[in-house]
Amino acid sequence: MAFIEVNNLTHIYSQGTEQEFCALRDVSFKIEQGEFVAILGANGSGKSTLARHLNGLLLPTEGSCQIQNLDTCNPQDVWQIRRQVGMVFQNPDNQLIAGVVEDDVAFGPENLGMEPAKIRQQVTESLKAVGMENFRKFAPHLLSGGQKQRVAIAGALAMNTNCLILDEATAMLDPQGRKEVMATVERLHQERGLTLIVITHFMDEAAKADRVLVMEKGQLVQSGKPQEIFADAPRMHKLGLAVPLAVELAWQLRQGGLQLPHDILSADDLIAALEARYVH
Ligand code: ADP
Ligand code: MG
Repeated sequence: MAFIEVNNLTHIYSQGTEQEFCALRDVSFKIEQGEFVAILGANGSGKSTLARHLNGLLLPTEGSCQIQNLDTCNPQDVWQIRRQVGMVFQNPDNQLIAGVVEDDVAFGPENLGMEPAKIRQQVTESLKAVGMENFRKFAPHLLSGGQKQRVAIAGALAMNTNCLILDEATAMLDPQGRKEVMATVERLHQERGLTLIVITHFMDEAAKADRVLVMEKGQLVQSGKPQEIFADAPRMHKLGLAVPLAVELAWQLRQGGLQLPHDILSADDLIAALEARYVH
């Protein structure tokens, strides 16, 4: 069985009332342990609703959502699921609750009833893993947005999570903060095999994923390698989405008659392709 298996998941908010709204319709996919998956989609396409199902914050109206053989519909499985699947949300200011960084990171392990010595060790290691060990005595309000998000990630690591979901966790950050957060989670993905699910509007973040899922109006409409997904720029535009700048440029250069490969994703790829073909 895959690490995550979502089968025919439908979610209806406020069912049976006038506000009834179907936010997810018959969504099915699998995610393997250690995969890095990006989820794209216009505002309102159901990305956050989907993320909340993956750690049992919402329950299916129909269909099922399983994480390592645990079903979000089983009340006795939900805590185990929340521990395994850590979530980082958009607003850095809503996520840290304690007055000191180390207390915040200790919050999860304390709730799990870990021994105090083990908690201290988990806090130290988790803060190290996100490069925040020098800030453990700081008050969160003294940190930048990117640092706050890294502390939130440390909080999940301290509970031994093996999957992180970033729900537009870089959207409110400045470019430096975005880079810090993405570099941190990519390193954790590479070094520890952390399963990484990144919901984003930044196409350069999605370009680094192993696989991209595209949502439209509550449905999963595409799943593939970033190269495949971004190859069809006009289709992405129709879905209200951009493609990475280098992909857009390569596409326009091809329209202008240049011969360039179709797997260009980054500025480095584009430069290498131009050099290989046109610089002598
Ligand atoms: P995304 O994250 O892709 O922007 P969401 O999953 O947040 O999309 O929302 C999908 C749709 O569900 C939106 O149209 C939104 O208005 C609606 N929605 C979200 N939360 C609720 C709720 N608690 N009650 C009713 N409708 C909701
Ligand atoms: Mg959202």
